[in-house]
Amino acid sequence: MKQVLDLHIHSKHSRACSKELTLPNLDKACRVKGVDIIATGDFTFPAWFDDIKNKLIEERGLYKLKNSDPSRLMGQAAKVKFILSTELALIYKQGEGHARRLHLVVLAPNVKAVEKFNKYLEDRGFNIRSDGRPILGMSAIELCKILFNIDEKFMVIPAHIWTPWFAVFGSKSGFDSLEECFGEFTKNIYAYETGLSSDPEMNWRLSALDNLTLTSSSDAHSLPNIAREANVYDLAEVSYDEIYRIIKERDTSKILYTIEFYPEEGMYHLDGHHVCGVRFEPEETKKHKGICPVCKKKLVIGVEYRVDELADRPLGFRPSNMPNFKKLVELDKIIAEVFGVKSRNSARVQIAYQQLLKKTGASELDILIDKPLPELENFTLPEIVEGIKRVRNGNLIVEPGFDGQYGVVKIFSEIEKKINRQAALF
Ligand SMILES: [Zn+2]
Ligand SMILES: [Zn+2]
Repeated sequence: MKQVLDLHIHSKHSRACSKELTLPNLDKACRVKGVDIIATGDFTFPAWFDDIKNKLIEERGLYKLKNSDPSRLMGQAAKVKFILSTELALIYKQGEGHARRLHLVVLAPNVKAVEKFNKYLEDRGFNIRSDGRPILGMSAIELCKILFNIDEKFMVIPAHIWTPWFAVFGSKSGFDSLEECFGEFTKNIYAYETGLSSDPEMNWRLSALDNLTLTSSSDAHSLPNIAREANVYDLAEVSYDEIYRIIKERDTSKILYTIEFYPEEGMYHLDGHHVCGVRFEPEETKKHKGICPVCKKKLVIGVEYRVDELADRPLGFRPSNMPNFKKLVELDKIIAEVFGVKSRNSARVQIAYQQLLKKTGASELDILIDKPLPELENFTLPEIVEGIKRVRNGNLIVEPGFDGQYGVVKIFSEIEKKINRQAALF
């Protein structure tokens, strides 16, 4: 059965996250987006874990909302499944006093295993009560030892592996290889997460990643960002064990494709300094020896540079047996561009968005990926259909992100925008 999985999100208890991120709201947002299996996020946070235990009911290692109200669930029985997950921030020293900062996604096979892990952390005085994504002073190796002692079916997935500050390959505090980070547990790491700023083609440049499962997840801090990246699997059985098996064995016959953000849109695609107004391609950074020409301090080295540094293959190399991917732009962003409106949250955009979903009876991902364009033309403005077509064809204008600034993806040129605005008005 085709299932869309988003394996990395946060709850309302994580820093800088929307208060809307509750279990019922996540369930609803997944129906709208077209996500079948979503991470709970934040399972070490006591109040959130209580919610998980009280409001969800287990089914083959995945969890569904109890007592689901059919009216709120758009007339369907509960069908969105949650997978127990969290993101941990590890801060520690390894190798010549180097400070390491690392984000890891952890998926858990059941509530019991999470209970044991949370108890272990509390008993040893780790602070899991102040942030949904706790900071733990332990190494990746120590963490793996603890998790796999509790249950061998925990999955540890290095998060957004290329971002500068908190990633296994990050330019600021990461490592040059997985072995350096995970030691004897490297063999227990079955997957990695591309993050928004890199796509599969960039990751294919490292032969060291060939045998791992590439995952793409949204790392959403608010409901609209759910499924901006996701994984599409063909599950023989909708269960934790089957997801575990596919990821562990990298069963590419079951990994249909991943859904990707345009990597240039990610916050750390290129190098630079936001405050200095300096944005460099890797070549320019090298010319300037990594130093900002304005403030004379070190530039923040982005993902493109770092991939190039560790890669052993040229861009464009495709290893055999790699699943496909589709780069998308979210539907409300497409509509906002057609209307010439800055915010995807504006009332006009949201009305058009909801209407299109309602009229087609389809989810957002269905509309973006699968619905035939002529069919969509019956339900919405031709400019919006044109926008969807261009996204499907990758026919876009992109301004890359850098130093914590999102990049900008544009579908229409300035002249086209003028014409669109007039068309949308009349
Ligand atoms: Zn993170
Ligand atoms: Zn500077």
